[in-house]
Amino acid sequence: MVISPAITTTTVPSSRICVRCESTMIVTYDELECLLCGYVDYTYTPPVRLRPKSILSTGTRYVLRYVGDSKSLSETLTYVKLKRLRNRVVFGVKCPFCEKRMDQSSLSGKRREVREERYKCESGHRVSLLPKKDGSMGWK
Ligand SMILES: [Zn+2]
Ligand SMILES: [Zn+2]
Repeated sequence: MVISPAITTTTVPSSRICVRCESTMIVTYDELECLLCGYVDYTYTPPVRLRPKSILSTGTRYVLRYVGDSKSLSETLTYVKLKRLRNRVVFGVKCPFCEKRMDQSSLSGKRREVREERYKCESGHRVSLLPKKDGSMGWK
């Protein structure tokens, strides 16, 4: 087996190959992430660039407490991260059950009164993010 020579280039490639499923990874909000299996390369360092400061700091991680009725889930935490999607700021949600990336699933039918955002992961887990009275968020 031949070990390839060390890469001497200083430019960061815009895409890499996922070590888990070998599909192409893409850079999402300063992280190298595989959209297929949700693998995140935390060793990736984004290229330094100038970013305007905004009120909502993207990249901030939040820990959400369970607010539903299930006792067995009361200690389970859900991690979310604010990220920018075009001109909106959305939540990047990590599945509390399998730690995969979750996608927002649209609320079908009528609009609910509670501002509830639903997410699901590729394994079929579903969570809802709910605003709490004190202004923070919870999940169930
Ligand atoms: Zn992958
Ligand atoms: Zn899951």
